[in-house]
Amino acid sequence: MSQIYDRVALIGLGLIASSMYWACKRDGLVGEVTGYAKSTETRDTARRIGLCDRVCDTIEEAVKDADLVVLCVPVGVMGDVAAQIAPHLKAGATVSDVGSVKRFVIDVVTPQLPAEVHFVPAHPLAGTEHSGPESGFAELFDNRWCLLVTDDQTDRTAADTLKSFWIAMGSNVEEMDADHHDLVLSVTSHTPHLIAYTMVGVADDLRRVSESEVIKYSASGFRDFTRIAASDPTMWRDVFLSNKDATLEILGRFTEELFALQRAIRQGDGAHLHDYFTRTRAIRRGIIEAGQDTDAPDFGRGAS
Ligand code: NAP
Repeated sequence: MSQIYDRVALIGLGLIASSMYWACKRDGLVGEVTGYAKSTETRDTARRIGLCDRVCDTIEEAVKDADLVVLCVPVGVMGDVAAQIAPHLKAGATVSDVGSVKRFVIDVVTPQLPAEVHFVPAHPLAGTEHSGPESGFAELFDNRWCLLVTDDQTDRTAADTLKSFWIAMGSNVEEMDADHHDLVLSVTSHTPHLIAYTMVGVADDLRRVSESEVIKYSASGFRDFTRIAASDPTMWRDVFLSNKDATLEILGRFTEELFALQRAIRQGDGAHLHDYFTRTRAIRRGIIEAGQDTDAPDFGRGAS
């Protein structure tokens, strides 16, 4: 595959940035990738494992002359980081991000950026429960969606180039508006994470009375919840604080459904339960048919 950008700067060197770097390298998509993270420890780790062509000690140095700057930091610091890079951006550069929430990021980043750069927000729908510079891998985005947020103000050349970059890193790309993105992601990712955190929290309380049996006999349903609930606390705190309205809307609907199931159990309404579970099973089949998971019994994640 041919080179898409001469110079890309990755700000934040965690799971997403490191996966982007390895995916770029796999196919020679960028001339030079520079990287910057807040802590010396992360920058040292990046240098040790060869993450980025050049790891910079200042954010200015990292973004200097970059054609594309990607903010790969937690949603809560996107605005501050945009303010730091703003005076050092090349005219005509594209700025993007990978934040899990879009309206909030657009609201805090846009006012910071100079008029002569193009902001094209993005969100790769790919991740694991691991974080940090050593957690990335080149295949993370393969056959996963990456959503670009565009509107009639978007610079088409910048958006189309970014789109070809994500396609070259393995993603399928679609464009969406920010509010729709935040509602859809609240259903498919944010609220399920909150439910997993809650379930594991309940089990943890119970563990104290059942003397570790919850851990010892943990069955696959609970294990899947614990995997999700092991996700990075900073990232997920920021997601809920910045996608408040959509999360509360979906949680409200969730609570209503839960009450309906609770009533069906209390009243012994087996038909209700059976119909409900038949409907949800079809959704799982749809996800497998869309190629977004395998039908291996452990959700394709292996025994680990
Ligand atoms: P991560 O592994 O925790 O890495 C975050 C990186 O950001 C770290 O290198 C951290 O540096 C750096 N950072 C934090 N504050 C900074 C600052 N003020 N200036 C410069 N660097 C800073 O995070 P991630 O999982 O890659 O997530 C990054 C973004 O992608 C988030 O916005 C998240 O919402 C989004 N996202 C995540 C997933 C997922 O499943 N993980 C999926 C899609 C999108 P230090 O190590 O030095 O603190």
